[in-house]
Amino acid sequence: MSHRKKINPETIIYSKTDRVKCSGEDNDHPLVYYTIPAGGEVVCGYCDIKFRKEEDNENSDKTYDGCK
Ligand SMILES: [Zn+2]
Repeated sequence: MSHRKKINPETIIYSKTDRVKCSGEDNDHPLVYYTIPAGGEVVCGYCDIKFRKEEDNENSDKTYDGCK
């Protein structure tokens, strides 16, 4: 196995709600909760992952996204 270090300069996670939680990509920091500001994004203070609100366009041509 290689020892290549994983570097993610810009990891963006899209969330359907404005409440997100993060504990690092490998659970390498304590679980923290953030609230995404309207129309913006929030950056995790521990691991620099960015969270953005997934836009919920009523114009979307997606089919129903109900329970699986
Ligand atoms: Zn984090």
